[in-house]
Amino acid sequence: MKKLLLILVAACSLVGCGSRDGKHVQSVSPEEFEYNVDRFYDLAILRYRVPDFESLSLEQKALVYYLSEAALWGRDIIYDQNGRYNLRVRRTCEALYEKYEGDRQEEQFMLFEKYLKRVWFSNGIHHHYAADKFVPECSEQWFRAACKEAGVELNDELVRVIFDPTVMPKRICQDAGKDLLLNSAGNYYEGLTQAEAEAWYEQHKDTSDEPRWIGLNSKLVKRDGQVVERVYRTEGDGLYREALAHVVENLEKALEYAENDEQRLVIKKLIEFNRTGDLKTFNKYAIAWVRDLNSHVDFVNGFTEVYGDPLGITGAWESMVNFKNVAATDRTRTLSANAQWFEDNSPTDKKYKKKECRGVSAKVITAAILAGDCYPATPIGINLPNANWIRKNYGSKSVTIANLTEAYYMASQGDGMNEEFYLSDEERRLAKEYGALMSDVHVDLHECLGHGSGQLMPGVGKESLREHASTLEEARADLFSLYYMADPKLVELGIVPDEEAYKTQYYHQLLNGAMTQLVRVELGKNIEESHMRDRALIARWVLAHVDSVKPEAEIIEREGKHYLRVNDYQGVRRLFGQLLAIVQEVVSTGDYEQACQLVEDYAVKVDQDLHRELLARYQPLGIAPYKGFVNPVYQPVLDEQGKIKDILIRYDEGYAEQHLRYSRDYSVLPDVND
Ligand code: ZN
Repeated sequence: MKKLLLILVAACSLVGCGSRDGKHVQSVSPEEFEYNVDRFYDLAILRYRVPDFESLSLEQKALVYYLSEAALWGRDIIYDQNGRYNLRVRRTCEALYEKYEGDRQEEQFMLFEKYLKRVWFSNGIHHHYAADKFVPECSEQWFRAACKEAGVELNDELVRVIFDPTVMPKRICQDAGKDLLLNSAGNYYEGLTQAEAEAWYEQHKDTSDEPRWIGLNSKLVKRDGQVVERVYRTEGDGLYREALAHVVENLEKALEYAENDEQRLVIKKLIEFNRTGDLKTFNKYAIAWVRDLNSHVDFVNGFTEVYGDPLGITGAWESMVNFKNVAATDRTRTLSANAQWFEDNSPTDKKYKKKECRGVSAKVITAAILAGDCYPATPIGINLPNANWIRKNYGSKSVTIANLTEAYYMASQGDGMNEEFYLSDEERRLAKEYGALMSDVHVDLHECLGHGSGQLMPGVGKESLREHASTLEEARADLFSLYYMADPKLVELGIVPDEEAYKTQYYHQLLNGAMTQLVRVELGKNIEESHMRDRALIARWVLAHVDSVKPEAEIIEREGKHYLRVNDYQGVRRLFGQLLAIVQEVVSTGDYEQACQLVEDYAVKVDQDLHRELLARYQPLGIAPYKGFVNPVYQPVLDEQGKIKDILIRYDEGYAEQHLRYSRDYSVLPDVND
């Protein structure tokens, strides 16, 4: 079976793998599915299966369908949040792409097409991960002439936004010492300094027991010397009201198919929140969402993760609709049921442990649609809500998305990475035998136990660690997972098959954090993104703290190439445990100085010689370091009265085709939103 797949995937990337023949593909098995869709720059586009969609009830299918529509309607919002010119850039380029009558095989056009594909991937003009601006490889002269010829409107300002790398060079600036707002192109603030925004948040801080997350759903703008909050809502002159109205409309249709009262309440509160923007309503929605544990279908829809805001406050719009993967859920349920045991036995100081670890619901889901900040690049796990007091009092939901990890894994089979970078056949054997399982287990441990573990000291909040909060929080969750995956308890619980399985994930994490993830960084640049900083911090801290006589792990050189050698896996585990205790203390006490120290010493800088070597070894493999997805297409079948009698799922839409359709069918925001 595996072999057949390898051949299929290889053949598929050779022919470029365009769209399928348009017929409805029902219940495709992984072996016959085409995972690879497109490849350009450092990006690969994959397709994911939605197994068991066909076996949902009609009501559940209709619910998924309307929630998917509500998801797709938020697409313009993330473009605008990522930068104030993004919608105009996208629309201008799409207009040229569609109206262009010249030779589409001509080099300049193809370079322009690549740029547009990249804009779609990033929901804007900055790299989705590194946050640096990218510019087209086609010439400005060609672009101007082509727009003129095709009758596409263009002005000098927009040309500068597209072609001048010094205009809005970074989406999000995290450089200590710089004004984070003035140096970020993200559109969460306008005309304010960092100090002014921080003062505003301080002044509006909610100190009640059930605090509202002030700023979650708004943009701060300076008008006539005054700081004004522009709230995202449909009422009045709410920001993004045009798009949110369609989100609400589809949520209302979804409401008719809700599975039970708990879910009905979730959807109702979300509708109300989108209308009013009232953060008390948002809290009610978030609590209702955490409590809705019995529905088969579930979803995230709205202003959620705060990585895009340099101050870590305003949520980027995202959506993901999903339903339960029952079989795989059993594994994470076992972990959750034992949450207290893990908390009690972790190597962290007693005062930073939760006395009562509760409410970590764990499930594995099947994603049915990805949208907003979750599309095309997407997380493989979700842990929400983000408000600490809700997590503490009501718990959180933690999910891993099995059909997406499946797609990543299947698409990467045989790409040459392990052949080049792994030390020997032994590491490759472990990866082959346990790699897929252990990457799932890692995500489960990270999401179900890691983020939910530990407690903050009184007076310490999420904002205490400022620009390093995300890096340290991710490191904490990763270390919790790494420490425990080697514990005999996991064999006892039946999560892993034996006491050797964890080794492949240890090897992968150290190698990735210390070396291979650098292939995603441009030569000469620092590590910026917080998950990458987290991984670098862990791997490089461990390698810096090994025993000087008998190192537990080390980087060795062989014929001019560097490799990771792990000599003592249990010894590495002890080091992970030590670092976990340190990171937990930093997070629990909000020790900003210590956080800066850790991040600056281990997580940011890149050894130029090593970096050059890695890129030279990596480039010939032709692998895309970043991957994203196209969604399936859901097509309602109506009876004579116009009622839904079925929803069909199709997997035949191409990358450009999908984005052009979304822009045609789900785009109502003005070019500039003030
Ligand atoms: Zn995480």
